Amino acid sequence: MNHAYKDYPAWHNGVFCTVQDLDVSILDLGLIHSDATYDVMAFINNRGLKIQEHVDRFLKSCEHWRINAGYTQQQFIDIAVQLHSRTGWDSSIIWMSVTRGIPESGNPRDLKNCKPNLMLYAKPYQKFNGTNQATVCLSKQLRVPDCAIDQAHKNFVWCDLTRAQWESIDRGYDTALLLSVDGFLTEGPGFNVAIVQDGTVRAPRTNRLPGISMLLVKETCEANDIKFIWDDIDQNQLHNCDDMFLTTTVGNIVTVTNFDGRNLSPSAVQKLLIKKINQGQ
Ligand code: PLP
Repeated sequence: MNHAYKDYPAWHNGVFCTVQDLDVSILDLGLIHSDATYDVMAFINNRGLKIQEHVDRFLKSCEHWRINAGYTQQQFIDIAVQLHSRTGWDSSIIWMSVTRGIPESGNPRDLKNCKPNLMLYAKPYQKFNGTNQATVCLSKQLRVPDCAIDQAHKNFVWCDLTRAQWESIDRGYDTALLLSVDGFLTEGPGFNVAIVQDGTVRAPRTNRLPGISMLLVKETCEANDIKFIWDDIDQNQLHNCDDMFLTTTVGNIVTVTNFDGRNLSPSAVQKLLIKKINQGQ
């Protein structure tokens, strides 16, 4: 990493700049009401990883939260590619966000008259935890249900995820998983999760972000005759699984080495998935 973070390449409302030029006002509803959305994509060895899918998800999130980003899919892809090439690195993470902006009238209910604030920046690609391994506990904190905030659309409402992360820190784990109000596995702070049982990969069906890395896992399973099921996973399945892994654009497959005090080691299925996905990059 050659740059200090403030010099990382960035883009702010149509202008290329550096991270130190990005800002969000205290009057911006994105900051004070979490009225914003974002996405995070990766370039690995100078190849964009499902960039189109990330930009599509971002635009769908914008539509869901009724924020008009004002740029097309192709324009966002071009900006992301330019930001990556401006880093001079082989691999980078591109972070993109749009906040509602400031209501012209000063009335926080005047949602129609806000000018969205768009910011993208590049940072070095780093593995999850620096190692791509994690110890994980099951949090007492529940995930906000889809019927309240549809977790299929990326959002800044991280209060539940952050409380779970605090609990994991307090209990000496790297991170945590959250259950739904119905008692099924959902996801964790910034990642999806899958379990492996008798050679079958199972990942939560609802109340989680449809992660693009998990999509890659599903496609890799299908190409290698491994059964993949979107499922409702209860605590019994969770505590008795053979193997568990997390997925995120920042790190791809992250091996869970300990879950709630039980040591785990990667199954043949997880090892194959890691190998195949790494080969594809
Ligand atoms: N779930 C949440 C809440 C996330 O924030 C993320 C990553 O941003 C993920 C899951 C993983 O999604 P992806 O694989 O697209 O990075």
